[in-house]
Amino acid sequence: MKPAPFDYAAPASLEAALALKAKHGDDAKFLAGGQSLIPAMNFRLVQAHLLVDLNGLADLDYVRRADDGRLRLGAMVRQRRLERDSAIAGHSPLIHETMPFVAHPQIRNRGTLGGCLAHADPAAELPVIAVALGARFKTQSTRGERWIAAEDFFRGMFNTDLTPEEMLVEVELPRLPPRTGTAFVEFARRRGDYALLGVAAVVTLDEKGVCQQARLVYLNAGDGPVNAKEAAGILRGEKPSAAVIEAASAKAAQAEIAPLGNVHASPEYQRHLARVLGRRVLRQAFDRAGSQGK
Ligand SMILES: Cc1cc2nc3c(=O)[nH]c(=O)nc-3n(C[C@H](O)[C@H](O)[C@H](O)COP(=O)(O)OP(=O)(O)OC[C@H]3O[C@@H](n4cnc5c(N)ncnc54)[C@H](O)[C@@H]3O)c2cc1C
Repeated sequence: MKPAPFDYAAPASLEAALALKAKHGDDAKFLAGGQSLIPAMNFRLVQAHLLVDLNGLADLDYVRRADDGRLRLGAMVRQRRLERDSAIAGHSPLIHETMPFVAHPQIRNRGTLGGCLAHADPAAELPVIAVALGARFKTQSTRGERWIAAEDFFRGMFNTDLTPEEMLVEVELPRLPPRTGTAFVEFARRRGDYALLGVAAVVTLDEKGVCQQARLVYLNAGDGPVNAKEAAGILRGEKPSAAVIEAASAKAAQAEIAPLGNVHASPEYQRHLARVLGRRVLRQAFDRAGSQGK
């Protein structure tokens, strides 16, 4: 199918793009990589009267390391850059590790960080990674800017905290504490497909090898990134033994995720995957945390 007729604008500045969005609200859509928006328009799942193309806004494509160790990423950073940039890999190896699971290289060449987060697909990897890393998002509109914790940004399936006139402009990643290990695993029927289920882990150990902080966040396990807080609570204060890891992944799989199932996987199968992948990702993250400084 072809999209319904629409107007197109290619503003030369952020201010001009925001002014268009303020004027047209939900009738206008930002066009980033177009890898989700254009197929949705072609299927007439989305109808936009105006596309506001962000591809001319070079000032939204940046990777900056702040003095305090935080990393700031512009919304128009392409997914391919997230995969390959050495500054990103050095700061947040979890992103570098996860990106090859996102679609295919051709799509990652166009797809952007901001587009993926704003799209808020519950099966997408980047929202899960952002929640797991404790990222913050900066939004901007003609009325000013605000910051939203990644955890509060995702409101449900394809639904975010963004207001109709706001643009997501920046993602801020904190510096992780010493002895922090991260890992990501997912299961897909074919490489590049959306995963049947996936999970990211971020764990921090103290000098004695006791877990101080843990985050376990699942994709395709509910209507957005599922932050398994009870499972994390089981890990905190414990040394990462097989029994503790099993208890945490079982808690997440049985009590915290709410998989919807699809033609490829029943919810029961997704719960099974959550338990197996939860164990696997935690083992890897704890191994990585424990090997630091050795
Ligand atoms: C075949 C195929 C397979 C895929 N597989 C995967 C996969 O396995 N995992 C995965 O995560 N993704 C996958 N994707 C999606 C891909 O990663 C997209 O690039 C991504 O979801 C959207 O990014 P985009 O830059 O293309 O955004 P667009 O398609 O341009 O925009 C998506 C939505 O976000 C809005 N938007 C864009 N930028 C902003 C902004 N800065 N502020 C506010 N709103 C904004 C748009 O208006 C639109 O509503 C796949 C896509 C295809 C076509």
